Amino acid sequence: MRVVSFFLLGVLCCSAMNPLETRLDRQMRFWQKRLGLEQWNLAVRVVRQSAIDPNVWGTAEWDPFTKNATINVLDPRDYNLHGGELKLDMECTIVHELVHIQVSPLDTKDEVVREEIVNKIMTALMNRACPN
Ligand SMILES: [Zn+2]
Repeated sequence: MRVVSFFLLGVLCCSAMNPLETRLDRQMRFWQKRLGLEQWNLAVRVVRQSAIDPNVWGTAEWDPFTKNATINVLDPRDYNLHGGELKLDMECTIVHELVHIQVSPLDTKDEVVREEIVNKIMTALMNRACPN
């Protein structure tokens, strides 16, 4: 009985997105379309700071051959911002990581140059400054 309950709980927990994940997923779909990345199978997930580099607000992992990608966005509990600024910055992170995927065929080995280019395109798309 306990095993069955656990199983059901597991299904309920992981198949349904919480409100934050639902919002991030909606934003990601919007920007996926704007960037013409519809052929990609994208997922977004919220991760704690301990799961990514200490000085970043998000990361992305992608496979150019299967066109599968996961965007990791920093958990609000580990964020340096709150309220509207937090929401805006999380959207900036999604756009930033999608731009990384978009420009990956042109990839330079210079990480500083790559981040500068990605941030310039992100800022142009967002049409406003990102908090972080
Ligand atoms: Zn970056």
